[in-house]
Amino acid sequence: MAERSNDPVVVIGLGRFGSSLALELTRRGTEVLAIDNRPKIVQGLAGNITHLATADATDLDALQQLGVPDFYRAVVAIGDLEASILTASLLVELEIDDIWAKAVSQQHRRILSRVGAHHVVLPEHDMGERVAHLVGGRLLDYMEVDENFALIKTRPPKEYVGLPLGESGLRRKYGVTVVAVKKENEEFTYATADTELSYGDIILVSGRTDQVERFADLS
Ligand code: ADP
Repeated sequence: MAERSNDPVVVIGLGRFGSSLALELTRRGTEVLAIDNRPKIVQGLAGNITHLATADATDLDALQQLGVPDFYRAVVAIGDLEASILTASLLVELEIDDIWAKAVSQQHRRILSRVGAHHVVLPEHDMGERVAHLVGGRLLDYMEVDENFALIKTRPPKEYVGLPLGESGLRRKYGVTVVAVKKENEEFTYATADTELSYGDIILVSGRTDQVERFADLS
């Protein structure tokens, strides 16, 4: 919910994923309570995160003492299966409204969802899929925004250079929409029917995943 977007967040597990998340939230002005059971990890982040605590998140009393039940949102960023699942189930028991969890495998993801985590991310798997789209070199960036809908950053294919988008027939032929264009040394602006693409432009294109991929193959 947008109105809750800046509510304080509990981040549990401060490995690479959890610490980056906690630091980025802090940088963006969100109050964070960050918890890890290893004192060294917690000490290493001192001064950079609003509230830090050393505690075992699989211990219900410890979570209660830290005031975790008062939070609207929590993230479980523990890779160890048992600790991650136990922690997520305690957060469900504490009726945290918005629980996010990191999974390290599809099986882990299924269990976390069954336990009641509201959102489960698989960072390594998702990043692997994303990089697969980038390593070919045709795409400058790729984001699957829904199961079968993507936004890509790419260069205009030769055949669409010098032609107003409105006359290009792009949407009819490929089912994709050029959303925005960045001319050399300029910022991105929204594309209109009059926009003409040039060599050197960077474009954002949206559409069904298979359609944007087919379009990207032209570049
Ligand atoms: P990453 O791959 O993001 O580095 P890890 O799974 O290696 O993630 O790190 C998870 C972090 O979670 C570690 O810093 C670890 O100390 C912490 N952790 C593991 N178990 C618990 C627990 N029961 N309570 C709190 N923190 C935990």
